[in-house]
Amino acid sequence: MMPYPAFSRFGFFKFGFSKFAAACVGVPVLAIALTTCAQDAPAAAPEQHGISIANMDRSVKPGDDFYDYANGDWIKRTEIPPDRGGLGVFSKLGDLSNKRTAGLIEEIAKSNPAAGTGARKVADLYNSYMDEAGIEAKGLAPLRPHLQAIAAIRNKRELARALGETLRSDVDALNNTNFHTANLFGLWVAPGFNDSEHYTAYLLQGGLQLPDREYYVADDEHMRTIRTQYQAHISAMLKLAGFTKPEARAARIVQLETAIARTHRTLADNEDIHKANNTWSPADFAAKAPGLEWTEYFRGAGLQQNSIIVWQPEAFTGESALVASTPLDTWKDWLAFHLVDNYAGVLPRALVDERFAFFGKTLSGTPQQRPRWQRGVFVVNGLLGDAVGKIYAERYFSPEAKAQAQAMVANIIASFRKRIDGLSWMDPATKAEAQEKLTTLYVGIGYPETWRDYSLYEIKPNDIFGNIWRSSLEDYRRDVARLGKPVDRKEWSMTPQTVNAVNLPLQNALNFPAAILQPPFFDPLAPAAANYGAIGSIIGHEISHTFDTEGSAFDSKGRVRNWWTPADLEHFEAATAKLAAQYDTYKPFPDLSVNGKQTLAENIADVAGISAAYDGYRASLNGSAAPVQDGFSGDQQFFIAFGQNWGSKTREASQRQQVMTDPHAPAQFRAATVRNIDAWYAAFNVQPGETLYLAPPDRVRIW
Ligand SMILES: [Zn+2]
Repeated sequence: MMPYPAFSRFGFFKFGFSKFAAACVGVPVLAIALTTCAQDAPAAAPEQHGISIANMDRSVKPGDDFYDYANGDWIKRTEIPPDRGGLGVFSKLGDLSNKRTAGLIEEIAKSNPAAGTGARKVADLYNSYMDEAGIEAKGLAPLRPHLQAIAAIRNKRELARALGETLRSDVDALNNTNFHTANLFGLWVAPGFNDSEHYTAYLLQGGLQLPDREYYVADDEHMRTIRTQYQAHISAMLKLAGFTKPEARAARIVQLETAIARTHRTLADNEDIHKANNTWSPADFAAKAPGLEWTEYFRGAGLQQNSIIVWQPEAFTGESALVASTPLDTWKDWLAFHLVDNYAGVLPRALVDERFAFFGKTLSGTPQQRPRWQRGVFVVNGLLGDAVGKIYAERYFSPEAKAQAQAMVANIIASFRKRIDGLSWMDPATKAEAQEKLTTLYVGIGYPETWRDYSLYEIKPNDIFGNIWRSSLEDYRRDVARLGKPVDRKEWSMTPQTVNAVNLPLQNALNFPAAILQPPFFDPLAPAAANYGAIGSIIGHEISHTFDTEGSAFDSKGRVRNWWTPADLEHFEAATAKLAAQYDTYKPFPDLSVNGKQTLAENIADVAGISAAYDGYRASLNGSAAPVQDGFSGDQQFFIAFGQNWGSKTREASQRQQVMTDPHAPAQFRAATVRNIDAWYAAFNVQPGETLYLAPPDRVRIW
């Protein structure tokens, strides 16, 4: 899930907010794939199949620290490279995928593809990003017309229109879960909460350049330091862009963003879809959120809808009031700074470096920027992901691997069916709908059935600024044009070259891209124990989102419908409250705890995922004994493979950012999920008194 949260939760693993991703990419937020920062990682040697013995630390008792037991020797011998915020299995595969993608892009560029083809666009986009000399020579020229347009704004009506013109489809509340846009608001086009057969417009809060409201309002030393450095960064950027009195402008921008942050919903509240289902008519915007001239805003945005779902009404009320109460000049500075900052990655070197110094070093603790070619690959993946993905899938994902992965999915779905049938507390009607959800579930393996068409997206050689500008505009127009049209439930929300997996609740669909279906997660030559413990748990995790607190809000057709009885819900909430309390006790740093509520949906999915994968594994043996590897039984291999999914090293600043903004718990605590599974105790003879030991009644069983 994605790189992070609730439904969002739906990504299996979050590499960072898009903002964070953008920081490592060095380009505007846009749709840069969350695949982001690839890294060296703890994978097994290529000739080895199954769990990696060399990565384990067998001096650690599995019952005391299972994460260290599975990964300790790798952690000891691994250094985080200077251009990374951290590294792990996901990033290792990300590296491999990026290397392959870079190779494909290079091949495409050399083949001198015909004008107008997707391949030509890939070549031109990549080359325009790599043209550093051309970018230096142009200087600030690409920014100028946009800065002049901002400077020409004379009143709040023109401001409303200009703010509308910045609206992009750059947020995603439930699939890739990205709640962040630096624009005033963000558009998400998805199946409707109340009409899942048609695409509907959702508007989300925005306006902050930092990743989340907590960065502005949290009153601790670390955040205070970040705020001071952020203000200095704004000032430096404005100075580089030629503004007078940059310090005074920066102070006012921080003040405005702090006021915006106070109107924002917290991440945990954002994930509650029942609080998000607010349908507003055009008249509602004026009545419920006075201040901004909404008619002008929507005219600027080119968005004319009779109803829009407003995710956080109080933020719309608050932000709109701030448009009225804050001086025009402050808003103009805010617009100018956001423009410069978001495009800094494709402007001259001085701006690239200043942006990285703040977002890369200060915010993520990464000492060094990625090589430019890697950032170029991120840009191409983000802007033309399917054009590259189609070739990637043909070359790197065999029909045999696809068939094996599909067989695993079938086994794990079968174990979910059995678990649901066996629940004593669930009402028969609820069980029937849960089974129906499994029947209608679309599981995409490897790559989508249809590919995105980029023919309307104009790429010019030697114009990276314009290419990125036009891409975000084209994405937006494409989404607006889909409003009201029938939903394609088989549409993917990740590219095949993305190392991740996702649950799309409104489509009742899962995507498992080709790039995650590789060793060490999935290896057609590895014992079943290792495959089920690794990728099997991930598959189970995504399926579980179909039934969890948020999955329970959507029925088998993807409609928002409460199909659980109150008694079912009560049981589920009691069980999951125990799990939230379990995670609240985890402390990555003495002054910072994991937020059990913010990470609950993901933690539930981890418990459920490993449980179903374990059943699927046992079923796959068909009664025969599992092969032993290096003295480890089948069950031991299963749990070690699960623990090795989480092998990672993260810089402190990165991990702090993750704890604040990510719906997923840090990796070391996700490995500790095993303490809730009875079979783990038997496999490693875990006894009372060992750190992870839980008495049977304290082990959380969800399904
Ligand atoms: Zn998830």
